[in-house]
Amino acid sequence: MQIFQIPDSPNTDLLNRLARERILILDGAMGTQIQALGLGEEDFHGCACRHHSDHPQKGNNDLLSLTQPAAVEEIHFRYAMAGADIVETNTFSATTIAQADYGMEAAVHDLNVAGARLARAALDRATAIDGRPRFVAGAVGPTNRTASLSPDVNDPGYRAVTFDDLRRAYGAQVRGLMEGGADLILIETIFDTLNAKAAIFACMEVFAEAGRRLPLMISGTITDASGRTLSGQTPTAFWHSVAHARPFTVGLNCALGASAMRPHLAELAQAADVAVCAYPNAGLPNAFGQYDEGPEETARQVADFAREGLVNVVGGCCGTTPDHIRAIAEAVADLCPRSVK
Ligand SMILES: [Zn+2]
Repeated sequence: MQIFQIPDSPNTDLLNRLARERILILDGAMGTQIQALGLGEEDFHGCACRHHSDHPQKGNNDLLSLTQPAAVEEIHFRYAMAGADIVETNTFSATTIAQADYGMEAAVHDLNVAGARLARAALDRATAIDGRPRFVAGAVGPTNRTASLSPDVNDPGYRAVTFDDLRRAYGAQVRGLMEGGADLILIETIFDTLNAKAAIFACMEVFAEAGRRLPLMISGTITDASGRTLSGQTPTAFWHSVAHARPFTVGLNCALGASAMRPHLAELAQAADVAVCAYPNAGLPNAFGQYDEGPEETARQVADFAREGLVNVVGGCCGTTPDHIRAIAEAVADLCPRSVK
């Protein structure tokens, strides 16, 4: 069966309708909120986790979906109540490739199922209060390996990971996210387009298995002032590399604050014939790696994206908080979504 003949998930129509009516709000950073909890090594291990590893787990934020589920659900709930229509699961690094750093490859399925269920539970709680529909976006990160560049300067032909390694790892992740109830899959912080293509391919394989297709959001990262991804693509080239997936949105996140992201976003919005999503960091990090940009400042710049007709979905990446998301939601509430060609 052709991939585009596989039926859409039932929530897809509602999502598309809402996206035509208004600018949708994506949530903000999970990492910043977890950091604020000040958890130690023992907290990361928890007491009820059936997965064990000899590696230290502090910093393995995805593991908290199993070991501190109430805390993770609360963060999702706060973002939902701040105005997020779409909330990302705590699964950015929940692939066998990224979890290898923590010796937690065997936990990957559980991390993704639990990640999606926690987000779903938080959103259902928020919807019970205000009646607004909300969507769980299964977050799929880039992993810590790159398929099109060598990590060894003396051996440019070397690759630390292959397309098929990535395809299999992403497949396992997406299966778990679907089982846990994700409404969308968000392939994000893409610095190497070949990694993203492996993730897209894995999604198509899993959708074919499941007989149900989820909308995709695809979000690249511009890593330098020349306006290219790490694998060397301009925003236009990036769009043409992923357009075959017919995503719900294509967009940019992370690496830059809103003002530095603007010209690259404008180029992408010019090239793409699907909805556009932008979720910048809260400005650039200071000397200590922290983000100082306040909610109003971020919201003002994101609202400028909307006034210029560049965006359909907006939210925040590193350094953004529920207050940033509330300010962004308020700032774009009366602005029109970009018209999709
Ligand atoms: Zn970020």
